[in-house]
Amino acid sequence: MSALYGTYARSELAFERGEGMRLYDQHGRSYLDFHSGIAVNALGHGDAHLVSALKSAADKVWHTSNVFTIPEQERLGQRLVDATFADSVFFTNSGAEALECAIKTARHYFWAKGETDRYEIIAFTGSFHGRTMGTIAAGGNPSYLEGFGPPMAGFKHTAPGDLKAVEALITPQTCAILIETVQGEGGVTAMTPEFMQGLRALCDEHGMLLILDEVQCGYGRTGRFFAFEWSGITPDIVAVAKAIGGGFPLGACLAKGDVAASMVPGTHGSTYGGNPLASAVGNAVLDRILAPGFIDHVNQMGQKLAWHLQQLAQKYPDYVVESRGKGLLAGIKITPPVRDFVARLRDDHQMLAIGAGDNVLRLLPPLIVSEADIEEAMDKLGAAFAAIEAETASVPAVG
Ligand SMILES: *Cc1c(COP(=O)(O)O)cnc(C)c1O
Repeated sequence: MSALYGTYARSELAFERGEGMRLYDQHGRSYLDFHSGIAVNALGHGDAHLVSALKSAADKVWHTSNVFTIPEQERLGQRLVDATFADSVFFTNSGAEALECAIKTARHYFWAKGETDRYEIIAFTGSFHGRTMGTIAAGGNPSYLEGFGPPMAGFKHTAPGDLKAVEALITPQTCAILIETVQGEGGVTAMTPEFMQGLRALCDEHGMLLILDEVQCGYGRTGRFFAFEWSGITPDIVAVAKAIGGGFPLGACLAKGDVAASMVPGTHGSTYGGNPLASAVGNAVLDRILAPGFIDHVNQMGQKLAWHLQQLAQKYPDYVVESRGKGLLAGIKITPPVRDFVARLRDDHQMLAIGAGDNVLRLLPPLIVSEADIEEAMDKLGAAFAAIEAETASVPAVG
């Protein structure tokens, strides 16, 4: 019996080491990683630059708290400001905390302007923003809210894709629209550029803020630094995490200067957020992601993956319903139950992937994936479908 909370239906598989695209278990068995610790290991496992950044940071100062200046954090913040739409950054330890900061920033912006009733946020069904009390209310998923008391007030939900439905929810109390540019956990659904542009226009028209959750789809994964760049819009606040620490817990809330201006001393805080270790690793991750050609490589691999998934869908039409996503945040909606299929891939074909809503198999390789790795993954997926086909055919027909 495990001493841990039973909040996960964990596999017994445990890994001992990792190298690039591969993880190795205690028996030295190798697994092809198309999971990346849920889009976290953007540079794969054991990246030499990240390892040396963490080791040399460990020889200096581990932690000081945010009441002192943390030079590595200042540097990471400045680099993010230089590389993006943002003027101001708050560092956290996780995605949910980055969203908490985003929500507080939006509400406080209007409060400080004297619009103290303006706290409502329009969010979307099928979204995932984290597991804190605030982010389960923002996500609106009934199964994550059930049993935890009254949900935090101030969120309204509608289905993504329908601008008229969004507009109908706007009231004088609405302060912001919050959306994942590509829904990850909900089923790997990319928002169209038209929808994103429409949301931006609604925000402009009604003086509201546009908050994007790019915790999963940001930091290069779609073939742009941010997924919203595909639609040419500029948001007001963006939450990032997952890839930004490459495996070290780190998140960030990025905002325009005027939007973040009311977040003065006392309004928000985090003991650990952006501590020296996290920031040193964060800078090393950014060195790699911003290196010339890195995001182009992601874009190319994303296109190859999409093409291969189309081929797979044509070859196994009984099992693959459609392919989805953007870049290396890819998915296929399949007919076999996705939970069983993920286990089959892992146990019989030594490939790691992850399920998503709507019975979608989510493929999240490290961004360093090569075409050979993609072909190997397709072979494994094909072998898994062929095995299901063989098992089905060998069951004697009844009647
Ligand atoms: C994972 C995720 C979160 C929550 O991140 P945590 O680090 O688990 O708190 C929020 N939003 C999206 C889109 C995510 O994928």
